[in-house]
Amino acid sequence: MISVLTERCKECGICVTVCPTKVLEIGSARNRRGYRHAVPARPEKCIGCRLCEYNCPDFAIFVEVSAG
Ligand code: SF4
Ligand code: SF4
Repeated sequence: MISVLTERCKECGICVTVCPTKVLEIGSARNRRGYRHAVPARPEKCIGCRLCEYNCPDFAIFVEVSAG
């Protein structure tokens, strides 16, 4: 499961760029600081690599990898 802490996101787009399977997009909704936050547009394509989580400078995205 991919969780975006929308209020931490600053629309940098790094997670969108590093995701190898193009799961993420910058959405149209804005957070309270006015940034359009990342959204998991294609979650079924997530392979659980956590590159998005490791590369987000604001700790705004987390991936829970289920066992099995
Ligand atoms: S890398 Fe983090 S701050 Fe940047 S767009 Fe993605 S979730 Fe938002
Ligand atoms: S865990 Fe990997 S595949 Fe899944 S959204 Fe993040 S970067 Fe993309």
